[in-house]
Amino acid sequence: MNEGILPQDAGDPGLALWQICLDELAQELPEQQFNTWIKPLTAQVAEDFSKVTIFVANRFKLDWIRAQYVGKLTAMLERLQGQKMVVELALATREAPVKTAFATQKAAQEALAETAEPVEDSPANGFKNRLNTALTFDNLVEGSANRMARAAAMHVASMPGHLYNPLFIYGGVGLGKTHLMHAIGNKMLADRPDSKVLYIHAEQFVSDVVKAYQRKTFDEFKYRYHSLDLLLIDDVQFFANKDRTQEEFFNAFEALLAKKSHIVMTSDTYPKGLADIHERLVSRFDSGLTVAIEPPELEMRVAILINKAISEGSVMPEEVAFFVAKNVRSNVRELEGALRKILAYSRFNQKDISIQLAREALRDLLSIQNRQISVENIQKTVADYYKIKVADMYSKKRPASIARPRQIAMYLAKELTQKSLPEIGELFGGRDHTTVLHAVRKISAERQQLTELNQQLHVLEQTLKG
Ligand code: ADP
Ligand code: MG
Repeated sequence: MNEGILPQDAGDPGLALWQICLDELAQELPEQQFNTWIKPLTAQVAEDFSKVTIFVANRFKLDWIRAQYVGKLTAMLERLQGQKMVVELALATREAPVKTAFATQKAAQEALAETAEPVEDSPANGFKNRLNTALTFDNLVEGSANRMARAAAMHVASMPGHLYNPLFIYGGVGLGKTHLMHAIGNKMLADRPDSKVLYIHAEQFVSDVVKAYQRKTFDEFKYRYHSLDLLLIDDVQFFANKDRTQEEFFNAFEALLAKKSHIVMTSDTYPKGLADIHERLVSRFDSGLTVAIEPPELEMRVAILINKAISEGSVMPEEVAFFVAKNVRSNVRELEGALRKILAYSRFNQKDISIQLAREALRDLLSIQNRQISVENIQKTVADYYKIKVADMYSKKRPASIARPRQIAMYLAKELTQKSLPEIGELFGGRDHTTVLHAVRKISAERQQLTELNQQLHVLEQTLKG
C-alpha cells in the first residue's frame, strides 16, 4: 500500500516519462485493450532519451504489440519528450521488468496476476484466488455514490451465504466495482482463511469454459467452480451472446446458491439492461440484491485524491484536491490518472503541488473538457437522445415529452458546467432561475428513485464527457 507511484528512484525521468505515456494511453484506448496489452508492459529509457526498450511477456504478445501498438507508443513518447526516439521491443526476462522498469509495484502485481494461470494452486490455502490484496475496504473511500453498494458488500463479506445473494453491483467504468469485489474477497479471507474464494473476470470465465470444452475437462471445471464458498465474477456483460458460457454459469450459479455459497457480480448496467443474456440468467441476477455505484460526488472526489496522495507518500493540499475534483469528474480511474500525472510532474520538475502545477500537469485533459461540455452541447445531446428538436430547449412549449428532456438538460447544465442558475435560465430561452432550480432538484431527486432515468442520465453524462 505504501509503495510510491514511482519506485524508490522516483526522480528517474525515464520512468516518469513512461508513466505519463501509460496514463495518456489509458485515456485513449478502450479499457480492456489497455489492460490487456499496454498495462503489463515495462520499459527502460536510455539516459539521453534516444531509445526506449519495451519489455513484453511473451512472443505472442510481442508480435501483437509490434503489429498494433508500436506506432502509437512511439508517437506518444516522441510527442511527450519532444524528440525523435527509437522504440525497441524485447522479451521480458525474469529479472528485467519487475525490478527495473515496472512503474508501480501495484501494476507489477496486477500484471502478474493477470498473466498467471487461473487453475494454479497457491500455497496460501491451496487455491488460487486471484485476489489483489491491495484492494480493500480500508482504502475504498466512502461517499453517497457508493454507500449502499459498500454497505451491502461489507455485509456479504462478514456474513457470506446469508442476505443479499447474489449481490449484483452495477455502474459505469472506473467507479470502484472491481475494487469492491476484491475488498469482499480479501475481507472474507482475512476472517475465514480456509474459505475458497475466487475472483474472476467474466472474459476469463468465458475462456475457461472454452478450454474445458476443448480439452474435455468439464468435470474439473465443475469441481473448481462448484466447490467455491465465494465467487466474485466481474463485468458479466461480457457473457452477452456466449450461450455455452451462460449455460455453464447458470449451472455454477445454481450449484453455489444451493449450498449457500455467495455470488457477487458486477456489470456496467442493471440486470434488465443487459443485452443478449438469457432471460433465466437475468432474472437470477436480479434475485438477490441489486445496487448501483454512482459517479463520485465532489466531496468524495476530494477525499479520494487526498487519501491516494497520502498512500503514495505525498501530500495534496485541499485546495488543489478541490481544483482537480472540480475538473475531473467522471470517475475514480480518471481521478487516479490525474493524480499520477500531478505527482510525476511535481517530482519531475521538483516543484511543490499547487493549483498552478496541477493546471500545468493536466493541461491536455482540462482543455479537452472545456471544449466539450458547453450548455449548447448539452442541449443538443439531450435533444438528440430524446428525439426532440433543439429549438424545443428554448421554446415555451409544455407537453411532458418536451418539458422533461428540457429539465434534464437544465440539470445536466448545472451538473456539468460552471454556469450559474440565471445563466442557465438565460440559455434556455430566458427562463427564470427558479425554473432551473426546480428542474435541477426534481431531476436529482427522481434520479435516486428511478433506475431508468438514472441509466439515461449515465448515458448522457458519458456521452457529454466524451
Ligand atoms: P470499475 O471496476 O468500476 O471500472 P475499479 O474498481 O477498477 O472500477 O476502480 C478504478 C480505480 O479507482 C481503482 O484503482 C480503484 O482502486 C479506484 N477507486 C474506485 N473507487 C474508489 C473509492 N471509493 N476509493 C478509493 N479508490 C477507488
Ligand atoms: Mg472493473
